[in-house]
Amino acid sequence: MTFLLHRSTENTPPVAVKGEGIYLYDSKGKQYIDACGGAAVSCLGHGHPEVLEALHRQLDKVAYAHTGFFTSEAAEELAETLIDDAPQGLSHVYLVSGGSEAVEAALKMARQYFIERSEPQRRHIITRRQSYHGNTLGALSAGGNEWRRAQFAPLLIQTHHISPCYAYRFQNSTESAEEYAYRAAQELETKILELGRDQVMAFIAEPVVGATSGAVAAEKGYFKRIREICDQYGVLLILDEVMCGMGRTGTLYACEQDGVVPDLLTIAKGLGGGYQPIGAVLLSKELYDAFANGSGFFQHGHTYMAHPMAAAAAVAVQNVLKRDQLVPYVASMESYFKRKIHESFANSSYVGDIRGRGFFLGIELVEDKVTKQTFDPSLNLHTRIKQEALKNGLMVYPMGGTVDGKRGHHVLLAPPFTLKQSD
Ligand code: PLP
Repeated sequence: MTFLLHRSTENTPPVAVKGEGIYLYDSKGKQYIDACGGAAVSCLGHGHPEVLEALHRQLDKVAYAHTGFFTSEAAEELAETLIDDAPQGLSHVYLVSGGSEAVEAALKMARQYFIERSEPQRRHIITRRQSYHGNTLGALSAGGNEWRRAQFAPLLIQTHHISPCYAYRFQNSTESAEEYAYRAAQELETKILELGRDQVMAFIAEPVVGATSGAVAAEKGYFKRIREICDQYGVLLILDEVMCGMGRTGTLYACEQDGVVPDLLTIAKGLGGGYQPIGAVLLSKELYDAFANGSGFFQHGHTYMAHPMAAAAAVAVQNVLKRDQLVPYVASMESYFKRKIHESFANSSYVGDIRGRGFFLGIELVEDKVTKQTFDPSLNLHTRIKQEALKNGLMVYPMGGTVDGKRGHHVLLAPPFTLKQSD
C-alpha cells in the first residue's frame, strides 16, 4: 500500500534505509552496490561523515533565507570555489535546485542576453537528436529523446535538432574520426543558415551524452568546430554537464578534454553528490556584464535557489573531492575500469560498444553486432536488466534511449569516485 505516485504504478521499489560508501541497504537488510551513483549523482558514495558534519553545522546556523532578502556564506563560498576552478572566462554562478532547473535558467539567460543587447530576433535554440536536458517543459523541449517528448509535444517550445556526434552509429567507413567530427559539426552551420544567420540564440549539447545514448563522447575536434561556428554567427554555446560534469569523466569538466569553453555551463548531480538537491549555471563575464550594464537583474528565480543547506553540502563535497584528489584518481582508473568491462562483456554477442570517459562508461546492447540492429523496443530490455541486477544486489542504469527515432538500449555505469580496484 502506498500513497506515493512512484515512477511506475506497477511496483513499489524497495525502501532505502541506509547508505554507506558504495553500498545502499533496503529495509529488509539487502545490500546493493551502487555502480551508477543513482543517475551519476553519488560521486562521494553514501554517508560521507564530512558532508554530514557540514550539513549539521549549516543547520545550526541557518537552514533557509530567501534570496530576495539575503545571501548566505555557504552560497558565496560555493560560487567562489566553482569560479576558482572553472574554465577560463566563466565568471559567475547561478544556483538552483537541480539539472532541469539549471537548463531552464541557462536557456532564459541566453534569451535575456540578446534582449539586453537589442537583438530580440534571436530566439531559436538548436540542439541534438540524441540528447537529454531534463524533464521540465523547457528542458524537455531542448532534449531530443523522442520517447520522452512524444506525449508532451503539443506543450513544448519549438527547437531545432541536428545529428549528434556518435561515431559507433554514424561514422562512415570511408571517413576518419576527424572527418566525421567535422561533418557532424557542420550540421550546426547548415541549420543556423537555414534559420537565418542572426536568428539563432543558442546551441545546447552534452559533451558526453548520458541518459539518451550511454556515455557517448564526441570525436576529437567536434566541439572545437562547434565553438568556431557559434563564434562566427554570434550564437551562445551552452554545454550541459549536469551528468558528465564535476569530475565524472576524469577532469572537473568534460569540456576541458575537448579544449572548449562554453558561454553557459550547466551542472547538478555530482555538484552536491546527492546529499542535497542542487544545480548551477556558470556564465561568462560577457553575459554577466550584459545583465549588470543592462536591466541590472536576471528575470528568473525560484523559492529554493541558492539554498544554504544545498550549498553547504556542495561545498563539503567539492572540498573532499579536491583534498582527496578524487578527480585525478578517476582519470587514473579509467583504463582499468574499461579493461575489466571489456574482459567481462566484449565476447558477448549482444554488446555492440563499450565507451565513455573516467567513471562514466556506457555499454550499448544490440541484437546483431555486425548490423548494429537494435533490440525490439517492446522487449523492454532496460527494465528487465535493471530488475535482474537489483535482484542480484547491483544498481546499474540501463536506458532505452533513441537511435535516430528507434529505441536503443544502453547500460550506464557511473560509480562513486571512491570505488577501489578491490571493490
Ligand atoms: N541534463 C542532463 C545532461 C541530464 O542528464 C539530466 C538528468 O539526467 C538533466 C539535465 C536533468 O537533471 P535533473 O534530473 O536534476 O532535473
